[in-house]
Amino acid sequence: MLQLAHINKIYGKRKALNDINIQFPDHETTVIVGPSGSGKSTLLRSLNLLERPESGLYSFDQQTIDFSQPIAEKEVLQLRRKTGMVFQSFNLFPHLTVLKNVTEAPIHVLHQDKATAEKTARQLLQQVGLDQKANQYPMELSGGQQQRVAIARALAMQPEYMFFDEPTSALDPELEAEVLRVLLNLAKQHNSMIVVTHNMEFAKGVADQIVFLEEGQILFCGSPQEFFSEPTQRIHDFLSAMS
Ligand code: ATP
Ligand code: MG
Repeated sequence: MLQLAHINKIYGKRKALNDINIQFPDHETTVIVGPSGSGKSTLLRSLNLLERPESGLYSFDQQTIDFSQPIAEKEVLQLRRKTGMVFQSFNLFPHLTVLKNVTEAPIHVLHQDKATAEKTARQLLQQVGLDQKANQYPMELSGGQQQRVAIARALAMQPEYMFFDEPTSALDPELEAEVLRVLLNLAKQHNSMIVVTHNMEFAKGVADQIVFLEEGQILFCGSPQEFFSEPTQRIHDFLSAMS
């Protein structure tokens, strides 16, 4: 279980995260929504420790980090190893083939032998529908295909949690659909996932838990049923503006 308690993150005078308290249950998908600038990326980046909040507690299973205290780099690496992140931009290694993009970290960070890493990589590429593209280079692929390689690459590190920050917002609608299908399959297989998205149809279909952020605060955390069928006035306005 991933858990945040009383998390605050300040940029200058602005509270990007304001007393965030939340639990992300294992094997479930939490979808984070909210207006631009509400703190969604800051929240995900804090979970991946790319961002350090000024205060609050972050617990991952038995391990707890207190952001108000100095944090050992070893602890950061341990926690980061348990998570995988997929960003809006795909950030593949342009000079490596698709297969090598996926095997690079398992070989060099997890010290897997090449044959094992390649076997896993081919399985993952099949899972994202790209087994035919193993020997091509990123620039030979569409944006949607590149993003699916990025997902396979993150999965190859066997993270306990996967974080996705607007993974389809750089894509055209048809390409978006193929990436969302991959995410939906991962969710159906009961992976532990946190997804930031502006796609409400997708959020409705994939979420076990929905979080609505505004101005760094959680205004709603609950089931998609409640979020979509009994919204508060503020959420109703947000949903109307999104459709
Ligand atoms: P979007 O939907 O546009 O991606 P978001 O919900 O992901 O928005 P964040 O990127 O988390 O929003 O930003 C939250 C607030 O923190 C915003 O006011 C933003 O301007 C501010 N912010 C984010 N990163 C930084 C930074 N590195 N330095 C200063 N302010 C920042
Ligand atoms: Mg963002």
